[in-house]
Amino acid sequence: MAPTEEKNDRMKARRTVAAALSVLALTAVAACGKDGSPNSDSGTKGGSAAPQLPTYQVNADAKLDASPTWTEAKKRGKLVIGAKSDQPFLGFEDVQTGKRNGFDIEIAKMVAADLGFSADQIEFKTINSSARETSLSGGQVDYYVGTYSITAKRKEQIDFAGPYYIAGQSLLVNKDNTEITGPESTKGKNVCTANGSTSVGNIQKYEAKVTTFDSYSLCVEKLLTKEVDAVTTDDAILKGFAAKNQGQLKVVGNIFSEERYGIGLKKGDAALQKAINDALKKHEDSGDWKKAYDATLGLSGSAAPAVPALDPTTAS
Ligand code: GLU
Repeated sequence: MAPTEEKNDRMKARRTVAAALSVLALTAVAACGKDGSPNSDSGTKGGSAAPQLPTYQVNADAKLDASPTWTEAKKRGKLVIGAKSDQPFLGFEDVQTGKRNGFDIEIAKMVAADLGFSADQIEFKTINSSARETSLSGGQVDYYVGTYSITAKRKEQIDFAGPYYIAGQSLLVNKDNTEITGPESTKGKNVCTANGSTSVGNIQKYEAKVTTFDSYSLCVEKLLTKEVDAVTTDDAILKGFAAKNQGQLKVVGNIFSEERYGIGLKKGDAALQKAINDALKKHEDSGDWKKAYDATLGLSGSAAPAVPALDPTTAS
């Protein structure tokens, strides 16, 4: 957890930028496809160009023999990447086309390109929050990109690269709800979140009645039918659901945790960890990170925050 002062500064900065760009962001949301992805044929809206996804140059010379995971992936000719499939603007699968979109998907692709794998050499596998560590240590996925907070407890089982984004826990309620205004007002209320997430422990502190499901979209269904009073998890996730259900849902209150998103990988593969960190740094410096953000998560209503510094302690 970062010092409170730093967190406040970050929140203040976010609010200022968010307010300044809210008009632009709303225009962008209006230009979205129904799955939360930008319309491929939407050229301009109100005179401003719709943000375009970056393309990533595949490093054909990538060689990472010191990594057992990479070596195995090369042999099989594709990378298997764990991701979410129901989080709009982050990790979302269009059930009709089977195509994935979102900020986490872009992060996964930019890293893959540096490891020598093109987008069509990626198989995405949907893994829910509670199955992430086991899928990594069991080798079902080569790495995992899906709103995955770096925590000391998880680091006992797996390693992380990153962080590549910092979120904070918040609350999603129905538009007509005036009772829940922040975590303190959830005492005794029915609050839904996902199994195996950091969100569970963070909300329990406020004595809410916590219900858990395997994914946040199931919680959102229960919220829309008013079977629960609120959904709680990272603001980045909740803003996506709010943008998809405009007029029905709203995000309320200040954030009450710090969630540093990392890329999960099998414990002990230091070569892969370094290669992923190098790839993140390269794409952050080149502007790809910002471009990817603007064309995905940025469409849910918040301007790009500062890119977090890579954390040398992830390399332990
Ligand atoms: N970032 C939090 C976590 O890793 C909540 C979001 C999620 O479950 O993916 O637990």
